Amino acid sequence: FISFRSVCKSYGGLHVLKNLDLTIRQHEHVVLIGPSGSGKSTILRVLMTLESIQKGNVLVGDGHLWRDTGDGASMPPPRELNAIRRKIGMVFQSFNLFPHMTVLRNVAEAPVRVLKISRAEANERARKLLLSVGLAEKEDCYPIQLSGGQQQRVAIARCLAMRPEILLFDEVTSALDPETVSEVLNVIRSLASEHKFTILMVTHQMDVAREIGNRVVFLERGRIIEEGSPNQVLDNPRNDRTRSFLRAVL
Ligand code: ATP
Ligand code: MG
Repeated sequence: FISFRSVCKSYGGLHVLKNLDLTIRQHEHVVLIGPSGSGKSTILRVLMTLESIQKGNVLVGDGHLWRDTGDGASMPPPRELNAIRRKIGMVFQSFNLFPHMTVLRNVAEAPVRVLKISRAEANERARKLLLSVGLAEKEDCYPIQLSGGQQQRVAIARCLAMRPEILLFDEVTSALDPETVSEVLNVIRSLASEHKFTILMVTHQMDVAREIGNRVVFLERGRIIEEGSPNQVLDNPRNDRTRSFLRAVL
C-alpha cells in the first residue's frame, strides 16, 4: 500500500536514507524507532512531499508519489499528486494549531478551504470528530486555553477532518507529560480499531510502540536494521545494535 523501493535521500553530502526498502500493507500499523538522526522523520516528510528524494521510487496506493527517472526522482502531475496527498494526513509533535482560530474552526477550516464543502457541513463533521476525541465541550475555546493533550487531540481531529486513509504520526506524544500520553494514545488506539487506517508512527517511547504497532521497524543511519512484531523486536531483538539502542532508551 505504501512502498519505498531503493530510496536514497541526502542533504548535501549527508546520506540520510540509504537504499531504503520499506513496505507497509493496507491497514497495517507500523512504528519506526531508532536513534536521533536515523532518518525517521525524513521518511514521513518524503511521504508528505515536504522533502524530495534523489533516487528510488515511492508508491502510495496504486500511484507513484516519487518515480525514479534515472536522473533524480520526480513527482506526478498536479492532479495525480493531489489525489495521493489527499489520502495522507500527518500529526506532529508540536500540535501546530492555528492560535487565532477556535477549536471548531481549527478542525473545520481545511475541509472548507481545500475540499470546498459548506461551512455548515464542515462544522457538523468537526463536531462529530471533537466528540470522538472527547472534546465536544471545547469547540469554542482557543488552543491556548487547552492542555497539551487536549491540543494534540484537536490536532488529530483536524487531520481526520480531511478523511485520510493513511495517518502519519511523528512523536505525537513526546511533548506530553506521562499522564497525558495515555489520553492521546487512547484516542489513537480507538481510532485505529474503529476505522481502517494505515498508520505509520515515529516514537521514542517504547511503550507507545508496543501499544500501537503491529510491526516495529528499527532504523539506524538510514537503514533498516531489524523489523518484526513488537514482542520480537522490543523483547527479543536479534541484532546487537537493536539491543544496545533498547538498553539505552529503556
Ligand atoms: P529525531 O529522532 O531526532 O527526530 P530522526 O530520525 O527523525 O531524528 P531526521 O529528522 O529524519 O531524523 O534527520 C535525519 C538526518 O538528516 C539528521 O542527521 C538531520 O540532521 C538531517 N537533516 C534533517 N533535515 C535536514 C535539512 N533540512 N537539512 C539538512 N539536514 C537535515
Ligand atoms: Mg524526527
